[in-house]
Amino acid sequence: MQDFLLVNRVEVLSQAGCSACSGGFSNEAVGEKAMVLGVGNPDRVYFFCHSCADNIMSHVESEASRKRYEWDWAVPLLAGQSPKA
Ligand SMILES: [Zn+2]
Repeated sequence: MQDFLLVNRVEVLSQAGCSACSGGFSNEAVGEKAMVLGVGNPDRVYFFCHSCADNIMSHVESEASRKRYEWDWAVPLLAGQSPKA
């Protein structure tokens, strides 16, 4: 299972995949734009790939809702180099 670093959240995502299409993020070393949605509870955080995030954002109508979504950047970590809790 590929791990990803979410750069701005300073968080490692080990079950990397989009919550909408379940597609994985890019394995390219430069990483890929991703979106993070927190719904209040810290344990309930969703991640979306670039194309799903674009789709979601195109349907968000209120500014208050828009603020709940954060763009981030997912960078693949080499196997064995991510900290295991
Ligand atoms: Zn997706």
